[in-house]
Amino acid sequence: MTESVLVCGAGMVGTSIALELQRRGMKVTLLDRREPGLETSHGNAGIITRTSLVPINNPMLWQQLPKLMLNQSASMRYKLGFMLKNTGWAIRFLLHARPSAFERTAKALFDLIELSRSEHARLIKEAEAQHLVQDDGWLFLYRSMKDFNNAAFLRQTYQRFGLDMQMLEKGDIAAMEPGLKPIFEQGVWIRDTRSIRDPSALVQAYAKLFVTRDGTLAKANLAAIEQSADRWHVKASDGEHFSADKLVIALGPWSKDFLARFGFQVPMGYERGYHMHYSGSGRGEGTDEVTELSRPIYDVSAGYVLAPMRGGLRLCTGVELADIDAEKNFAQLELAEASARQAVTLGERQLDEPWMGCRPTMPDCRPVIGAAPGQKDLYFAFGHQHIGVNTGPGTARILADQIEGREHKLQSEPFRPERFIRPRKQ
Ligand SMILES: Cc1cc2nc3c(=O)[nH]c(=O)nc-3n(C[C@H](O)[C@H](O)[C@H](O)COP(=O)(O)OP(=O)(O)OC[C@H]3O[C@@H](n4cnc5c(N)ncnc54)[C@H](O)[C@@H]3O)c2cc1C
Repeated sequence: MTESVLVCGAGMVGTSIALELQRRGMKVTLLDRREPGLETSHGNAGIITRTSLVPINNPMLWQQLPKLMLNQSASMRYKLGFMLKNTGWAIRFLLHARPSAFERTAKALFDLIELSRSEHARLIKEAEAQHLVQDDGWLFLYRSMKDFNNAAFLRQTYQRFGLDMQMLEKGDIAAMEPGLKPIFEQGVWIRDTRSIRDPSALVQAYAKLFVTRDGTLAKANLAAIEQSADRWHVKASDGEHFSADKLVIALGPWSKDFLARFGFQVPMGYERGYHMHYSGSGRGEGTDEVTELSRPIYDVSAGYVLAPMRGGLRLCTGVELADIDAEKNFAQLELAEASARQAVTLGERQLDEPWMGCRPTMPDCRPVIGAAPGQKDLYFAFGHQHIGVNTGPGTARILADQIEGREHKLQSEPFRPERFIRPRKQ
């Protein structure tokens, strides 16, 4: 008999899972309160890269900590209330920056990224979405040799994992990106990187592929889940009801609160981020030439990413540790915008208000992928921090193998839910 599955959440993670389970012959229903790809999977920088193997809590965090504690940095800020409420998460997050813990995470993320790369390549082709993706790499840029030297650990790590990168002198940077003002002393071109020119359009192309192949996509604001008679039931806030043999929770940053209602405690932190779109970029004063960037740049010294997208240049901020629903604070974006204006001539703001989203982050910066502890036929796939667009398709492969009972232990072990989540109290 064909097995049926409900996948809750149509971001990059849930949509990739729905497609993969469908490919394996299951009857899949994908549920979301919005159209696919309109939340966290919309507002990101759209970068699919191997550099994501280094999480934010890497051994360099220790030396950065005194400065970060001052809460003035563009790359990471925190709301004190959030830190006090989440001291357990924060301590575990810091402890995972130890070299031994970092090594385990880097290796696990590298494998997940590799798995995702080939899956993305296949899906992009099948979804006829090649026009949304570019293969020109991305640039890490440093305003001083001191900043460049401070990042030596990252480059050593990238080298160890065999990343394809090239050092750039000032003149090389100007030749590659003539739109940039000459403020960068040194750069690194991470060549084996893809960038998405419209991340939500890519998720929507994947969702369309799923529907074309007879998948069911339904709009529902999910309120509750329960299991009875070997079936899982999901209730929407308008009373609509869905049921299937198996249930996957892939609600991104909302997974924590949703599962709390069902008795699971998920130690997830929120690394909030903002973006704004601007029309064009140019060489600046004295010229009206407008030159678009041809690939994303990461101004490491100033802590922002600027990515050419369909809707203009997208400026993405670093991290704000705060509650999912805390008041928005545009200070980091203002700071990033001022810094970006030193590097390029940004045109007009294209959005009425900056976009804000939450990177869902587990203490070890590894996503949760696998069977829910103590529960039959319930599966989790969330906590993809800065890399969910990149690693959605690899997540789908690992989870689908588990659901089919063909788990590759080495592949799935680093992501198993039990490392943080206990069986719920009945
Ligand atoms: C500023 C910024 C830059 C980033 N840059 C990158 C990058 O360059 N590369 C990269 O790989 N990652 C990046 N990320 C991270 C990436 O965006 C996330 O890891 C990823 O989008 C998470 O995908 P998801 O499917 O788990 O969650 P989401 O995309 O948030 O999907 C969850 C879905 O669940 C739905 N949902 C929630 N609650 C309910 C409910 N009760 N009922 C029904 N539906 C519900 C939502 O509507 C949503 O569609 C960035 C993030 C930010 C904030």
